[in-house]
Amino acid sequence: MTPTPDGAILVDMSARNPWDRIRIVEGDLTQLDVDAIVNAANSSLLGGGGVDGAIHRAAGQDLLAECRTIGGCPTGEARITRGYKLKARHVIHTVGPVYHGGDSGEPALLQSCYESSLRLARSNNVRTVGFPAISCGVYGYPMREAATIALETTARFLAAQDDIDEVVFVLFGRAALDVYLAVRAELSAI
Ligand code: ADP
Repeated sequence: MTPTPDGAILVDMSARNPWDRIRIVEGDLTQLDVDAIVNAANSSLLGGGGVDGAIHRAAGQDLLAECRTIGGCPTGEARITRGYKLKARHVIHTVGPVYHGGDSGEPALLQSCYESSLRLARSNNVRTVGFPAISCGVYGYPMREAATIALETTARFLAAQDDIDEVVFVLFGRAALDVYLAVRAELSAI
Protein backbone atom coordinates (compact mmCIF):
# COMPACT_ATOMS: atom_id res chain seq x y z
CA MET A 1 0.00 0.00 0.00
CA THR A 2 1.30 3.41 -0.97
CA PRO A 3 -0.03 6.61 0.69
CA THR A 4 -0.34 9.48 -1.82
CA PRO A 5 0.27 13.15 -0.88
CA ASP A 6 -3.47 13.73 -0.44
CA GLY A 7 -3.76 10.83 1.96
CA ALA A 8 -5.44 8.29 -0.37
CA ILE A 9 -4.15 4.73 -0.31
CA LEU A 10 -3.20 3.04 -3.58
CA VAL A 11 -3.33 -0.74 -3.57
CA ASP A 12 -1.27 -2.39 -6.27
CA MET A 13 -2.99 -5.77 -6.78
CA SER A 14 -0.20 -7.09 -8.98
CA ALA A 15 2.13 -6.75 -6.00
CA ARG A 16 0.05 -8.97 -3.67
CA ASN A 17 2.48 -11.21 -1.83
CA PRO A 18 2.02 -14.75 -3.19
CA TRP A 19 2.80 -16.25 0.24
CA ASP A 20 -0.33 -14.57 1.63
CA ARG A 21 -2.37 -16.66 -0.81
CA ILE A 22 -0.82 -20.01 0.16
CA ARG A 23 -2.30 -21.91 3.10
CA ILE A 24 -0.86 -25.11 4.59
CA VAL A 25 -3.12 -27.35 6.67
CA GLU A 26 -3.29 -30.91 7.95
CA GLY A 27 -6.42 -32.82 6.95
CA ASP A 28 -8.39 -34.74 4.37
CA LEU A 29 -8.34 -33.16 0.91
CA THR A 30 -11.66 -34.76 -0.05
CA GLN A 31 -13.48 -32.61 2.54
CA LEU A 32 -12.06 -29.30 1.36
CA ASP A 33 -14.56 -26.60 0.36
CA VAL A 34 -12.76 -25.01 -2.59
CA ASP A 35 -13.47 -24.55 -6.31
CA ALA A 36 -11.16 -27.44 -7.26
CA ILE A 37 -9.11 -30.12 -5.58
CA VAL A 38 -6.16 -31.70 -7.35
CA ASN A 39 -5.94 -35.47 -7.56
CA ALA A 40 -2.60 -37.29 -7.53
CA ALA A 41 -3.82 -39.66 -10.22
CA ASN A 42 -2.13 -42.37 -12.22
CA SER A 43 -1.87 -42.12 -16.00
CA SER A 44 -4.96 -44.26 -16.64
CA LEU A 45 -7.13 -41.77 -14.68
CA LEU A 46 -9.20 -44.79 -13.68
CA GLY A 47 -8.61 -44.55 -9.96
CA GLY A 48 -6.08 -46.06 -7.60
CA GLY A 49 -5.08 -46.06 -3.96
CA GLY A 50 -4.14 -43.20 -1.65
CA VAL A 51 -5.68 -39.82 -2.25
CA ASP A 52 -6.91 -40.93 -5.69
CA GLY A 53 -9.03 -43.71 -4.17
CA ALA A 54 -10.33 -41.38 -1.47
CA ILE A 55 -11.37 -38.76 -4.04
CA HIS A 56 -13.18 -41.33 -6.21
CA ARG A 57 -14.99 -42.77 -3.17
CA ALA A 58 -16.11 -39.31 -2.05
CA ALA A 59 -17.10 -38.09 -5.52
CA GLY A 60 -19.03 -41.24 -6.49
CA GLN A 61 -19.23 -43.38 -9.64
CA ASP A 62 -19.95 -40.46 -11.97
CA LEU A 63 -16.38 -39.24 -11.57
CA LEU A 64 -15.01 -42.54 -12.85
CA ALA A 65 -17.46 -42.43 -15.76
CA GLU A 66 -16.22 -38.98 -16.80
CA CYS A 67 -12.58 -40.05 -16.37
CA ARG A 68 -13.19 -42.99 -18.74
CA THR A 69 -14.08 -40.50 -21.49
CA ILE A 70 -10.74 -38.69 -21.16
CA GLY A 71 -8.49 -41.58 -22.19
CA GLY A 72 -5.64 -41.11 -19.72
CA CYS A 73 -3.09 -38.41 -19.00
CA PRO A 74 0.72 -38.37 -19.44
CA THR A 75 3.02 -37.79 -16.46
CA GLY A 76 3.44 -34.07 -15.73
CA GLU A 77 0.17 -33.05 -17.39
CA ALA A 78 -3.31 -32.40 -15.97
CA ARG A 79 -6.97 -32.87 -16.93
CA ILE A 80 -10.12 -31.41 -15.38
CA THR A 81 -13.49 -33.00 -14.55
CA ARG A 82 -16.49 -32.08 -12.48
CA GLY A 83 -16.46 -32.80 -8.74
CA TYR A 84 -19.84 -34.60 -8.46
CA LYS A 85 -20.54 -35.38 -4.78
CA LEU A 86 -17.49 -33.48 -3.55
CA LYS A 87 -17.81 -29.99 -2.11
CA ALA A 88 -15.27 -28.99 -4.76
CA ARG A 89 -16.87 -28.05 -8.11
CA HIS A 90 -13.98 -29.59 -10.07
CA VAL A 91 -11.28 -32.21 -9.79
CA ILE A 92 -8.00 -31.51 -11.55
CA HIS A 93 -6.24 -34.82 -12.17
CA THR A 94 -2.48 -34.65 -12.51
CA VAL A 95 -0.01 -37.50 -12.85
CA GLY A 96 3.12 -37.13 -10.75
CA PRO A 97 6.41 -38.87 -11.53
CA VAL A 98 7.44 -42.09 -9.82
CA TYR A 99 10.64 -41.29 -7.90
CA HIS A 100 13.69 -43.19 -9.14
CA GLY A 101 16.40 -41.26 -7.28
CA GLY A 102 15.82 -37.81 -8.77
CA ASP A 103 18.07 -38.00 -11.85
CA SER A 104 15.42 -39.21 -14.28
CA GLY A 105 13.64 -35.91 -14.84
CA GLU A 106 11.46 -36.18 -11.74
CA PRO A 107 11.89 -32.55 -10.53
CA ALA A 108 10.85 -31.07 -13.91
CA LEU A 109 7.90 -33.45 -14.16
CA LEU A 110 6.70 -32.65 -10.64
CA GLN A 111 7.04 -28.92 -11.34
CA SER A 112 5.05 -29.43 -14.51
CA CYS A 113 2.24 -31.09 -12.49
CA TYR A 114 1.83 -27.97 -10.37
CA GLU A 115 2.11 -25.59 -13.34
CA SER A 116 -0.32 -27.58 -15.51
CA SER A 117 -2.83 -27.86 -12.67
CA LEU A 118 -2.68 -24.15 -11.87
CA ARG A 119 -2.95 -23.18 -15.55
CA LEU A 120 -5.99 -25.43 -15.93
CA ALA A 121 -7.52 -23.96 -12.77
CA ARG A 122 -7.06 -20.46 -14.09
CA SER A 123 -8.53 -21.19 -17.52
CA ASN A 124 -11.61 -22.71 -15.81
CA ASN A 125 -12.20 -19.70 -13.54
CA VAL A 126 -11.19 -21.68 -10.47
CA ARG A 127 -10.21 -19.20 -7.76
CA THR A 128 -9.43 -21.57 -4.88
CA VAL A 129 -7.45 -24.80 -5.29
CA GLY A 130 -6.47 -27.62 -2.91
CA PHE A 131 -3.39 -29.79 -3.51
CA PRO A 132 -2.18 -32.99 -1.85
CA ALA A 133 1.55 -33.82 -1.71
CA ILE A 134 1.70 -35.15 -5.28
CA SER A 135 4.02 -38.18 -5.75
CA CYS A 136 4.80 -38.37 -2.00
CA GLY A 137 2.83 -41.57 -1.33
CA VAL A 138 3.31 -44.77 -3.31
CA TYR A 139 5.29 -42.85 -5.96
CA GLY A 140 8.02 -42.37 -3.34
CA TYR A 141 9.08 -38.73 -3.81
CA PRO A 142 10.95 -37.43 -0.72
CA MET A 143 8.62 -35.01 1.09
CA ARG A 144 11.07 -32.15 1.59
CA GLU A 145 12.20 -32.08 -2.05
CA ALA A 146 8.64 -32.33 -3.29
CA ALA A 147 7.44 -29.61 -0.91
CA THR A 148 10.15 -27.27 -2.18
CA ILE A 149 9.02 -27.79 -5.78
CA ALA A 150 5.33 -27.49 -4.86
CA LEU A 151 5.74 -24.27 -2.90
CA GLU A 152 8.29 -22.58 -5.19
CA THR A 153 6.28 -23.33 -8.32
CA THR A 154 3.01 -22.20 -6.75
CA ALA A 155 4.47 -18.97 -5.34
CA ARG A 156 5.97 -18.11 -8.74
CA PHE A 157 2.67 -18.81 -10.49
CA LEU A 158 0.65 -16.72 -8.02
CA ALA A 159 3.12 -13.83 -8.20
CA ALA A 160 2.57 -13.60 -11.95
CA GLN A 161 -1.23 -13.29 -11.87
CA ASP A 162 -4.15 -12.39 -9.62
CA ASP A 163 -6.82 -14.76 -10.93
CA ILE A 164 -6.29 -17.43 -8.28
CA ASP A 165 -7.12 -16.21 -4.78
CA GLU A 166 -5.87 -19.08 -2.67
CA VAL A 167 -3.97 -22.35 -2.91
CA VAL A 168 -4.35 -24.73 0.03
CA PHE A 169 -1.90 -27.58 0.59
CA VAL A 170 -3.69 -30.30 2.53
CA LEU A 171 -1.24 -32.68 4.16
CA PHE A 172 -1.95 -36.07 5.58
CA GLY A 173 -0.33 -36.25 9.00
CA ARG A 174 1.72 -34.03 11.25
CA ALA A 175 5.10 -35.01 9.76
CA ALA A 176 4.12 -33.84 6.26
CA LEU A 177 2.59 -30.66 7.68
CA ASP A 178 5.81 -29.82 9.55
CA VAL A 179 7.92 -30.33 6.42
CA TYR A 180 5.72 -27.98 4.38
CA LEU A 181 5.71 -25.33 7.12
CA ALA A 182 9.51 -25.47 7.41
CA VAL A 183 10.00 -25.23 3.65
CA ARG A 184 7.59 -22.30 3.42
CA ALA A 185 9.47 -20.49 6.19
CA GLU A 186 12.73 -20.94 4.28
CA LEU A 187 11.39 -19.93 0.88
CA SER A 188 9.31 -16.97 1.99
CA ALA A 189 12.32 -15.49 3.82
CA ILE A 190 14.38 -15.33 0.60
P1 ADP B 1 1.18 -40.72 -5.37
O1 ADP B 1 0.83 -41.95 -6.14
O2 ADP B 1 1.23 -39.48 -6.26
O3 ADP B 1 2.41 -40.88 -4.54
P2 ADP B 1 -0.60 -41.06 -3.06
O4 ADP B 1 -2.07 -40.91 -3.05
O5 ADP B 1 -0.05 -42.41 -2.79
O6 ADP B 1 -0.09 -40.42 -4.44
O7 ADP B 1 0.01 -40.06 -1.97
C1 ADP B 1 0.14 -38.67 -2.14
C2 ADP B 1 0.08 -38.00 -0.78
O8 ADP B 1 -1.30 -37.84 -0.42
C3 ADP B 1 0.72 -38.78 0.35
O9 ADP B 1 1.48 -37.87 1.14
C4 ADP B 1 -0.48 -39.33 1.15
O10 ADP B 1 -0.18 -39.45 2.53
C5 ADP B 1 -1.48 -38.22 0.93
N1 ADP B 1 -2.92 -38.55 1.10
C6 ADP B 1 -3.56 -39.76 1.03
N2 ADP B 1 -4.88 -39.60 1.24
C7 ADP B 1 -5.09 -38.27 1.44
C8 ADP B 1 -6.24 -37.45 1.72
N3 ADP B 1 -7.46 -37.99 1.82
N4 ADP B 1 -6.06 -36.10 1.87
C9 ADP B 1 -4.84 -35.55 1.76
N5 ADP B 1 -3.72 -36.25 1.48
C10 ADP B 1 -3.84 -37.59 1.34
